Amino acid sequence: MAGIFGVSSNEDCVKDLFLGTFYLQHRAQDYCGLACSDGKTFSAYDTHRGLMRQQFPKKVLKDLKGNFGIGCVTGDRQPVSVLGKAGAFIVAYDGNIINHDELRDALLMKGIGFTGFIGEGEVHDSAVIAKIISSESTFERGIESLAKIMKGDFALVALTKTGVYAARGWGRKHLILGKKNGSYAVSSESNSFPNTGFEIMRDIEPGEIVLINEEGVNHVGRLDLNPKKYCSFEWIYTAHPASVIEGKSVAEVRINLGKALARRYPVAADLVSPVPNSGRWHALGFSMASGIPHIEVFVRYDYSDRSYTPGQQPDRDVEARTKLIPIKEVIKGKIIVLVDDSIVRGTQMLTRVRVLKEMGAKEVHARIACPPLVAACHFGKTTRCNDECIARRMPIKEIQESMGLDSLGYATVEDLEEATGLPREKLCLDCWEP
Ligand code: SF4
Repeated sequence: MAGIFGVSSNEDCVKDLFLGTFYLQHRAQDYCGLACSDGKTFSAYDTHRGLMRQQFPKKVLKDLKGNFGIGCVTGDRQPVSVLGKAGAFIVAYDGNIINHDELRDALLMKGIGFTGFIGEGEVHDSAVIAKIISSESTFERGIESLAKIMKGDFALVALTKTGVYAARGWGRKHLILGKKNGSYAVSSESNSFPNTGFEIMRDIEPGEIVLINEEGVNHVGRLDLNPKKYCSFEWIYTAHPASVIEGKSVAEVRINLGKALARRYPVAADLVSPVPNSGRWHALGFSMASGIPHIEVFVRYDYSDRSYTPGQQPDRDVEARTKLIPIKEVIKGKIIVLVDDSIVRGTQMLTRVRVLKEMGAKEVHARIACPPLVAACHFGKTTRCNDECIARRMPIKEIQESMGLDSLGYATVEDLEEATGLPREKLCLDCWEP
């Protein structure tokens, strides 16, 4: 997972560049980077391990200058600078290459080597895509070449001296355009825009390549890619609730899913609570449709990290265990509907149900805002391994019993279609229907 941002400004872009990238921090926390250009040179280029706010304090930002810029939050060190046939550029990438080894080996066989490898024969996807793009005579041709040979999906932004290129693959990695007073921005998510003063223009379409600069948003290429699919999980969990994807508000889609759960699995309960933060908007929808009060039984400790973004499962489990503090006084003697975005291995839900029962909950009913996850995501989101999915190993009734739940209900693909207003043909459903 990554968040990428680009801006072309009619004044110095650094403030917008920092904030626009900072608002993508929920997508990745391992590395962050910024790069700027004044149209003549690359005036600044900086990558760090860690979070945007800590790595780019005011005293660092004051040394960055330029009208064009890109930024990213990522799982590997980005952005990456390259000098290729089309000249120099700096690229930040959100995606995954399923046939990474094949493409890396093909480049090596052509005599194209890598610097900064991460282990015996290992290089990051970002290094591979930078080499592929830079081996063509124009940036557009480089992207075409990438899309022809890669399996997976991608979105990217690239800083050149003529502006910021942005390109989107088959659709699972989102990009959206914004504008304000002659300045233009592109972001993985539109929640970068409200506090930087940008207004949404439109989504970059799957397969589209644009160049943003002082002339505005220039459509410079179209890749013939099929089938085009949007990642359903962005609306369910990944994206920020303030974002809008393909014209659908993430918060509203989550409310719709919660309402669908309330209609599909009614229960007489004292309160409905999210597993914060990811279940919050779904729980609100459940409460609105059922009339059951929305009261949080866990408080998320503000200084915890997001539990899905650490790279290793044990780290994710530790983070998930420590981030929620139960409120015994609210829990004791109550029939509780607990709403969450998804269940992967089930260990986190099991822990939470145990805590609620130990604190005196009379009954605990779980409602899950997506269908049972049964497959790893080949596009770098949700689970990394099929065997992690509890719904692959046991039927729903058994999952319910193994967790000590009094009932368990999952949203359906039909609920997803209705909540997003998009037909199943346009939605990637691979983690539910591989
Ligand atoms: S498999 Fe699931 S998480 Fe991955 S892109 Fe498709 S819908 Fe999104």
